[in-house]
Amino acid sequence: MQPFFFLSSVNSMKARYNAYSDYFVKIFGERVQKVTIDAGFSCPNRDGTKGRGGCTYCNNDAFNPSYCQPHKSIAQQITEGIEFHKVRYRRANRYLAYFQAFSNTHAPLSKLKELYDEALAYPGVTGLVIGTRPDCIDDEKLEYFAGLASKYYVIIEYGIESCYDRTLLKINRQHSFEDSVNAIRKTAGYGIRTGAHLIFGLPGESREEMIHEAEILSELPLNTIKFHQLQIIEDTYMALDFLRNPQEYQLFGLEEYIDFIIRFIERLNPEFVIERFTGEAPPRFQAGPTWGNLRTDQVVNMIEKRLEELDTWQGRLYKANV
Ligand code: SF4
Repeated sequence: MQPFFFLSSVNSMKARYNAYSDYFVKIFGERVQKVTIDAGFSCPNRDGTKGRGGCTYCNNDAFNPSYCQPHKSIAQQITEGIEFHKVRYRRANRYLAYFQAFSNTHAPLSKLKELYDEALAYPGVTGLVIGTRPDCIDDEKLEYFAGLASKYYVIIEYGIESCYDRTLLKINRQHSFEDSVNAIRKTAGYGIRTGAHLIFGLPGESREEMIHEAEILSELPLNTIKFHQLQIIEDTYMALDFLRNPQEYQLFGLEEYIDFIIRFIERLNPEFVIERFTGEAPPRFQAGPTWGNLRTDQVVNMIEKRLEELDTWQGRLYKANV
């Protein structure tokens, strides 16, 4: 497998992996800003459909931007989101409405149409990023999203979190890895882009088991993938469990994580676009050890530097099953 910097004329360290920012420039020819929305969904693991307690690590407040409040209309949240990003990042002319909080396909189709059509009617919104669980999708909804995907950029991002059912049981996900595989294959079968989210450092998983997930996931029809190191978040069951049973948790230190992530992406399908390497919950939500005040972009810089030093790249050890 050839590294990206041989394939691309872009002589940057980013070319050692398939970076999300480059992906949008390739698709749209310019920078596109994701604008997060909380549309007031719940999730089957909270509303009693499957469970009430939620996943053990979950506290949606830890990553929802302050302007995201479900009592506001979709249009109002997009307006405020655009303002919010303007002061932090370079200006963008086009936006993707990112339905992030909870499970954004967990409602009747009529409700989904109302919310997603409102987002797409907003000037400059060019597509949707929809975060959900793999057990919250069906043919009727996929047909609707496939119709949108023929006109807009649409991606459905599934929370996989782990490829191991014993871990999924332990963190109370209330779905299996097979559910994730089925949802991803089915979504791709409708011609809709698919994304996946994975957490590294979940209790009971060895480092080698996590590395092996690169090989498992590489066989799926995914377009994008994002990773988070496990963080212990306030007001979660996991925060309590961490206090009672700290020996169950092997949280990543920063240096170890950088080495780990490089080993992981060396084995990852080079076609997958890497959206994120780490998570960054605000300090007031942290109930466990942290990496200090390092920002996500600083960790990305460290990963890029290490790739360069080791002269390695995403997919270097990837073996396609053909
Ligand atoms: S992580 Fe997602 S699926 Fe789990 S409880 Fe939170 S919103 Fe629900």
